[in-house]
Amino acid sequence: MTETLFKTPEFHTIPVSGEKAEYPVVRIFCVGRNYEAHAAEMGGTVDREAPWYFTKSAISAVTLTGATLPYPPGTQNFHFEMELVVAIGAPVFKADLATAEQAIYGYGCGLDMTRRDRQQDGKDNRRPWDLGKDVEGSAVLGALTRAGQSGALAGKRIHLEVNGEVKQDATLAEMVWSPAEVISHLSHYYHLRPGDIIMTGTPAGVGAVVAGDVITGGIDGLAPIRLTIAAAEG
Ligand code: MN
Repeated sequence: MTETLFKTPEFHTIPVSGEKAEYPVVRIFCVGRNYEAHAAEMGGTVDREAPWYFTKSAISAVTLTGATLPYPPGTQNFHFEMELVVAIGAPVFKADLATAEQAIYGYGCGLDMTRRDRQQDGKDNRRPWDLGKDVEGSAVLGALTRAGQSGALAGKRIHLEVNGEVKQDATLAEMVWSPAEVISHLSHYYHLRPGDIIMTGTPAGVGAVVAGDVITGGIDGLAPIRLTIAAAEG
């Protein structure tokens, strides 16, 4: 064992329905603009040539469902984005669609919490989105359901509420790029492997939260998700 100068944090793990062992999250890829109505509300359009991505740092960004997240520093416009999460279960590199489909371990609910004002700075100044998207605690993850145990996903409802009021309500059929298409495309840039998760983009209806808000969300057939926003840290 190499002696290290300081202790490093361990990867977060997420529960899997019906399994004793949990799924460790090593990398987080996120798809940009995967629902046309959300792209439009952001003042953009979807790209039908190819999907595109940003990332979150797994160790610092993961928050498990049920947690309370302090309102983050550096924003006046902290937004929710309800998303289908896809977890990779096998090594996959330069894969075709069938191979990509088989590499899916399971699905879950996720929230891609976003400093919308800092993301807009990035867009305005043609700079990266890290301050907007790689926010500590901003990848909120629910329990996974094994692929094949959730039924066909395409027509499933995806929804999010803030304090019980519905804000996002769509179906997964509205996704421009399916999970298999995303995995196949991404596998031409990365050696995907177990521990990699993909947040597949959000439908229309995103909005801001404030301290005290309770966010709930769900996708038919998957375990629901919940996040409470607390006061900002001093
Ligand atoms: Mn997103």
